[in-house]
Amino acid sequence: MSAVKIPGAVDPGHELLASALQRLDTAAKAIGLDPGMHRFLAAPERTLIVSVPVQMDDGSLEVFTGYRVQHSTGRGPGKGGIRFHPGVSLEEVQGLAMLMTWKCAVLDLPLGGAKGGVAVDPKQLSGREIQRLTKRYTAAILPIIGPEQDIPAPDVNTDAQTMAWIVDTMTMMTGKHSPEVVTGKPVELGGSRGRHEATGRGVAFVTLETLRRQGRPAEGARVAIQGFGNVGSIAAKALAAAGCRIVGLSDVSGGYASAAGFDIPAAILHVRQHPQRLLEGLPGAAPISNAELLAMDVDVLIPAALEAQITADNAGDIRAPIIVEGANGPISADADRMLNDRGVIIAPDILANAGGVVVSYFEWVQSRAQFYWELDEVESRLEIYMRRAIELVLAKAKVYDCTTREAAFIIAVERVAGAIDLRGIFP
Ligand code: NAD
Repeated sequence: MSAVKIPGAVDPGHELLASALQRLDTAAKAIGLDPGMHRFLAAPERTLIVSVPVQMDDGSLEVFTGYRVQHSTGRGPGKGGIRFHPGVSLEEVQGLAMLMTWKCAVLDLPLGGAKGGVAVDPKQLSGREIQRLTKRYTAAILPIIGPEQDIPAPDVNTDAQTMAWIVDTMTMMTGKHSPEVVTGKPVELGGSRGRHEATGRGVAFVTLETLRRQGRPAEGARVAIQGFGNVGSIAAKALAAAGCRIVGLSDVSGGYASAAGFDIPAAILHVRQHPQRLLEGLPGAAPISNAELLAMDVDVLIPAALEAQITADNAGDIRAPIIVEGANGPISADADRMLNDRGVIIAPDILANAGGVVVSYFEWVQSRAQFYWELDEVESRLEIYMRRAIELVLAKAKVYDCTTREAAFIIAVERVAGAIDLRGIFP
């Protein structure tokens, strides 16, 4: 049940980690980072690889490989999602954990960076099998997670239900009710209002800000979105509500175009009613390939599926003048350079999709205090954090005469290295 590797094909996890390291190098050079600190930040603090045996419904035993990587706890406990996907690999999780460190630092959250995952195709498993997999994986990584160590959250193919199973495992194994061990939990179990929508809404907020700063009206702006899960669908809904025309959508079932613009609430309902077919069969949707979706003639392209979707191979085909990274690491470092040379404006992942981790931070605070905020409080605080980070990144880009991605990395690396310096290397 593991992913089949096609010889010669791009390995997305490898590409993601290589790009993350290249971006760290660029920031390190710009700020003259101490070479020892650079080496420290280039490698994860801790990596755990676990074997996850699962009794399947038919009585057979399957064994999956799981990972939890803590890249840096310099500024606080590790924070980062858990992904269930056949393509999960050590390099992918290490790259994603590093991005979490920078994301938390850019947003000035008192958290470090971590990530986890299991190499599994959850679509091949029953609900009960996924529950057993989640609980066994949680038990295996339990020694290194906890509200003061490392706090997981949902990512690709995991959701609030997955987080509820993690809370149960922690509670059963410690004998203490432990909702604060994860964020992205159901609201009934101590989750934060607005967490489910936070990443997509943050992506929409950054998209609208970018359009505004480029002097382009949101009303009628044509948008194509790759990935129609948590991030893609909620960003699509918020952008359509702001007057944008969502003319391209895709998910694992394929890509779809609609010159008139999709009815997003109807598309979300369609996916909910057809969980096996997803967007396939959506009325008014003309099928296109994934490559065609990325190359659509639109005002904004939002990759919101997986990493390494835009590489040196297809960067030349991209026609959108603005790209907002809903996914983590969707553009490789080489492709980034090619797009920057052509003047394409890119809102980088560590800023654009940070809404989720900001509200995860709010959820962690609420769970620890056992005091829950109203939705309007969550939303207004989220906007304050996002706006402050955007202003800071744009100001830094001016000072260094660099791209917003480089500026965001510079801010993050300065903050993380600064915190480690203040603490002093142990012992
Ligand atoms: P999800 O599982 O809810 O949705 C993923 C979507 O991508 C699905 O619609 C799936 O069908 C689609 N997809 C997968 N492979 C595809 C392909 N090859 N072509 C087109 N579509 C494809 O996951 P999500 O939580 O929405 O996460 C999406 C991305 O956003 C990931 O990179 C994740 O790391 C990142 N992210 C998520 C959050 C969050 O809060 N959920 C926060 C920050 C970043």
